[in-house]
Amino acid sequence: MDRIAAPSVIAFIGLGQMGLPMVANLLSAGFVVRGFDLSEKAREEAAQLGAVACASPAEAAEGAAAVITMLPNGSIVRDVLLGQGAVAAAMTKGAVVIDMSSSAPTDTKALSNDLAELGLSLVDAPVSGGRARAVSGDLSVMVGGDAAVIDAVVPVLEPMSAKIFRTGAIGTGHAMKAINNYVSGAGAVAAMEGVILGKAFGLDGDTMVDILNVSTGRNNTTEAKMKQFVLSEAYNSGFSLGLMAKDIGIAEGLANELKLDLGALAETSARWREADATLDGGADHTEMYRYLNSKAT
Ligand code: NAD
Repeated sequence: MDRIAAPSVIAFIGLGQMGLPMVANLLSAGFVVRGFDLSEKAREEAAQLGAVACASPAEAAEGAAAVITMLPNGSIVRDVLLGQGAVAAAMTKGAVVIDMSSSAPTDTKALSNDLAELGLSLVDAPVSGGRARAVSGDLSVMVGGDAAVIDAVVPVLEPMSAKIFRTGAIGTGHAMKAINNYVSGAGAVAAMEGVILGKAFGLDGDTMVDILNVSTGRNNTTEAKMKQFVLSEAYNSGFSLGLMAKDIGIAEGLANELKLDLGALAETSARWREADATLDGGADHTEMYRYLNSKAT
């Protein structure tokens, strides 16, 4: 398969917190981007960046060498490709779908088989790094799929990423992403409950975070979230609580499929699911602190 290099046409579906800055980086690298999102505001923002704003996902896919999906979950990705969105039918034979959403790995395997029957390839290429690193083009990408297809799409992934990891067969990127977010989400709960506990005993929140960050308790939440979004009460990291709960639920579902009894995973997933059901629909994932605090007191 030929490498998909600039100025090839890339369709980009899902122009949210992550999608828009990723589009900006593809445009800067010289790709032609045809974008679609259900939100008219998002489509307008993509057009302002220099993308072609399309009226439907199928229209975006016309003539594209690759279709990138950056959508809330894998069910929506399937619906956009093979259901209502009718993207697969509009794609050129031999074109590649790159699902950069955090989707469920077993569903990804099934989607790959269904697309293959239509002469289309799929790689799963979810990302880590959040909105800040989507903006700077420094995401970590974990890619699963056929090696020759991955070789072809590397030039498309490079403008958005600092590091591209090949994880193995189709679905392994999505599995790795769910595992990462379980570890991240468990660390977040531990850091937040630790601060709640310390404050109740009279410790100062900022001081606690300073100490954790030079001690063995440090993690991504203590370093990049506690002061910035939690203690400041800004709660605007750009990653929703609902998406975090979904990701940890994917890891839990995978453990169940593999018949693994992982107690901390089940417990962590339950905490995030409860918080998602309790807080407002649009809550940022750093608002987990508010939920844990109200539960504790
Ligand atoms: P988001 O909610 O900001 O964006 C999703 C976009 O998809 C929205 O603009 C929405 O209108 C659009 N959309 C929903 N259904 C659609 C459909 N049927 N057709 C077209 N557009 C549709 O979410 P996000 O934070 O950008 O996350 C996107 C994906 O990336 C998710 O799978 C998430 O788990 C993952 N992710 C997010 C982050 C982060 O920090 N925000 C980091 C890594 C991975």
